[in-house]
Amino acid sequence: MDMDRPETDGRRIVRQVIGGKSVAASSGSEIDVVCPSDGLVFASIPASDAEDVDRAVRAAAAAFETGPWPRMPAVERGRLLTRLCHLVEKNGDELAALESRDTGKPARQGKADVAATLRYYEFYGGAADKIHGDTLPFLDGYTALTLREPHGVVGGIIPWNYPLQILARVAGAALAMGNTLVIKPAEDASLTAVRMAELAREAGFPDGVFNVVTGYGGEAGAALSAHPLVDYVTFTGSPATGTAIQQAAALNNRGVTMELGGKSPQIVFADADLDKALPVLVNAIIQNGGQTCSAGSRVLVERPVYEAVASALAERFARLVAGPHDADLDLGALINPRQKARVAGMVADAEKAGIPVLARGAIRPDVRAGGYYFAPVLFGTVDPSATIAREEVFGPVLTLFSFDGEEEAVRLANGTDYGLVAGIWTKDGARQHRMAKRVRAGQVFVNGYGAGGGIELPFGGFKRSGHGREKGFEALYDMSATKTIVFNHG
Ligand code: ADP
Repeated sequence: MDMDRPETDGRRIVRQVIGGKSVAASSGSEIDVVCPSDGLVFASIPASDAEDVDRAVRAAAAAFETGPWPRMPAVERGRLLTRLCHLVEKNGDELAALESRDTGKPARQGKADVAATLRYYEFYGGAADKIHGDTLPFLDGYTALTLREPHGVVGGIIPWNYPLQILARVAGAALAMGNTLVIKPAEDASLTAVRMAELAREAGFPDGVFNVVTGYGGEAGAALSAHPLVDYVTFTGSPATGTAIQQAAALNNRGVTMELGGKSPQIVFADADLDKALPVLVNAIIQNGGQTCSAGSRVLVERPVYEAVASALAERFARLVAGPHDADLDLGALINPRQKARVAGMVADAEKAGIPVLARGAIRPDVRAGGYYFAPVLFGTVDPSATIAREEVFGPVLTLFSFDGEEEAVRLANGTDYGLVAGIWTKDGARQHRMAKRVRAGQVFVNGYGAGGGIELPFGGFKRSGHGREKGFEALYDMSATKTIVFNHG
C-alpha cells in the first residue's frame, strides 16, 4: 500500500493519485498531517500547485475524451462502483481508523462514516443504469428525445469534516453518470481521499477517471476551480470559499453545485414527545463536535415547555465529555487551532454580549496538551439578532430560543440567511404539514433529525446554504446535462 511508507522519523509519506499513478507534488513540497487529538504530525501529503492540478485535469480530460469510461455501458460503470463499495467494506476498519485519526472524530463516528460511504457507492453503483432521458410530445412528423450526458471533467473540492462521506457522494453521482473526476480534499484531512483513489485503482477504474490532488485551498483548490478544462465544479464548505470558487468557475462559465452550511433550527412545540426529542436535539449539535453542515445549532422551544427543555438540555450538556478520538467519548477535538480559536472567539463574544451560558460540558482531564479540544456550550435565551444566533459556529455550541405559536416559530426558523435542514417536533399532524411547507430548508425532518446518512435523500440548501442538490437520485441530474435530439422524419 502506498500509504505505509514510514520514513526514519516514522511519518507516513503519502502520495496523491494522478492518472492512476501515485506521485509527489512536482515541486516536492509537502504538508504535515497533524492528529487533532494530540497535535502531533504523523504523516505528510503533497503540497500540490497549479502544475500538478493541470496534470490531473489533463489526465481526467484524456480519460473522458479518449478512454473507455463515458462510452462504457452504464451497467459496467455501476459494477465498478459496486466493486469499490465492496473494497470500502473490506478495508472498513483501516478507513475508519484513518478518518478518525486524521480528523479527531470519535472512533464510532469514523465507523459510521465508513458505513455511509459504502452505501453511497452501493446506491450509485445500482443507479448508474437506471437513469434515462425522455421522449417528448412534439410536432407531427418529428420525434424528440432527451439524453442525459456527463459534463466531462468534474472538479470536486471537499472539506475536512466528513472527507470519506462527502467524497463518496460526489464521486458516486459523478462517476455513475460517466464523468471523470479530480478531487481536491482539504489540506487538514486528505488521507482517506487518497486511500479511496488507491482503492478505485484496485477496483479497476481506468487510469485518469478518479484523480486526487492534495494541497492548500488557495493554491491547488483555486487552480482546480479556475481550470478551463474542468466542466463542472462541486464544492462543500464555507460560504466565503464557495463565493471564491463560483467566481473562478464563472470565468469559464461552468456550472457549480454549492453546499455551504447552515444555521439549522429544530422547532419544539409544547405537545412534542420530549423524551424522544431530547437525545436527538443534543446529538444534532454534538455529532462531529458540531463541525457538520447540517448541525442543528438552534433549538426553538414553545414557551410552555421552554423551562423544562432548557433544564433537561442543560443537564445533558453538563455531562458531555470531549476527548481523544480513540477514547470514543461524546465528541473529539476540533480540526485545527484556527477552528478552535474561531469557536472560542464566537463563544467569548456571545458571553460578553450578555447571553447566558446554561451549561458547559467538559474536556477529559488527561488529554494531551497539544489537542484542539473545546468543551460544549449551551446558550439560552438568545436574542435572534445576536451574531451567535445567525452565524454558523461549526463547533459544539447550541443556542436556545423561545417562541409563542406557529407564526413566530416560522419567523425565527426562517430568520437567518441559511436554509439547509430543519427539525419539527409536534404530535399535531396538520401542524407537521403546515410547518414542513413553511420552513425554508432543503431537508425537513418531522419528529426526527439527521442528514448524515440518508444517502437516498436529496440534500442541499436555500439562500446562503447554497444551490444544487447532492445525494439520492437528484444528484445524478446535477452531475449530467440534458441533450435534446429532434428527428424530422416527415
Ligand atoms: P476552512 O476555512 O474551514 O478550511 P473552507 O470552506 O475554506 O473551510 O475549505 C473547504 C475546502 O475548500 C478545502 O478543501 C479547502 O482547501 C478549499 N479551499 C479553500 N480556499 C479555496 C479557494 N480559494 N479556492 C478553492 N478551494 C479552496
